[in-house]
Amino acid sequence: MSRDGDEHRPVSRVRVRVPSKINLFLTVRGVRPDGYHELVTVLQTVSLYDTVTAHVEGPSAQHPAGRRSMQLDFTQDGTSGVPDDEANLAVRAARVIMAETGFGSATNGCGPTTRLHLDKHIPVAAGMAGGSADAAAALVALDELWGAGLGRARLRELAAELGADVPFCVSGGTALATGTGTATAQVLTRGSYHWVVGISDTPLSTPDVYRAYDEVATPSEAEPDAVLQALRNGDAEALGDALHNDLQVAAEHLRPELTERRQAILDAGALGALVSGSGPTVVGLAENAQDAVRLQRAVADVFDRVEVGLSPAGGPDVWRD
Ligand code: ATP
Repeated sequence: MSRDGDEHRPVSRVRVRVPSKINLFLTVRGVRPDGYHELVTVLQTVSLYDTVTAHVEGPSAQHPAGRRSMQLDFTQDGTSGVPDDEANLAVRAARVIMAETGFGSATNGCGPTTRLHLDKHIPVAAGMAGGSADAAAALVALDELWGAGLGRARLRELAAELGADVPFCVSGGTALATGTGTATAQVLTRGSYHWVVGISDTPLSTPDVYRAYDEVATPSEAEPDAVLQALRNGDAEALGDALHNDLQVAAEHLRPELTERRQAILDAGALGALVSGSGPTVVGLAENAQDAVRLQRAVADVFDRVEVGLSPAGGPDVWRD
């Protein structure tokens, strides 16, 4: 099996491991006429991963006629609790790339089958962009498997049709995102950051959190400069002080226990702690890897599950064979 960066050649199976994200900074600038919220946010990938595997079975996948008759089959590990049909974001991503390339446009049902499998580990509806990560992984995997040659720039454009965080997940790393979140610019960062990731099994719906935000929050004037400077300097302590999320007040309004859980991470000595995105995941910044494990133990009973994570965690990682 070979890794990303090898020369292009036909492949029969592609595996893409994709990281989740946390928001180090998020401010809501207002609501657009179409109801979407305008954001300024700093996103960074963190080392909790999903994996999407794609391979082709059946007749002549290399032949243009075979490609036009391509069928799609989707499976996932049974424990994930996300849709296993066309509603799954990985399948929606596959349909977008099929529409773009013409693969699967013939409906005679006698072509080869692309089997897409999702191994889900990123917590669901947790503010960690798990669905967006899976969509990005499916785009990257199918572009590679089918030799479609779209490349990351075009995939990012297609990704914007699938959700606000999907273009970021196609690239990974650290980005400043504006608009609804789809306009992203990579951010210069130094060093790595160690986190405790406090997971709650009861999900929180992103639209519900935005509705609560509209009811309970007052717009803030917060700017991302302090977070961006801390990242440029590789200064974990300054980053801990600068972490900011306007949606936190809304998530904690819907789920008051999150305030105590966040406080528990701070009381245990984290450099900073905040609700990630729309929650309910709460992340705490540790001084180093050892400190992250110490914090994990200290708040183990406060959350349903606590992981340690490293950021930035790169982007989609591709293996082919
Ligand atoms: P974000 O941080 O981008 O707001 P999130 O982490 O809060 O997202 P997701 O885990 O992406 O939320 O799930 C959001 C919704 O999308 C859930 O209701 C889930 O059922 C649905 N969904 C569809 N496909 C997937 C997928 N592959 N993985 C996760 N959720 C999916």
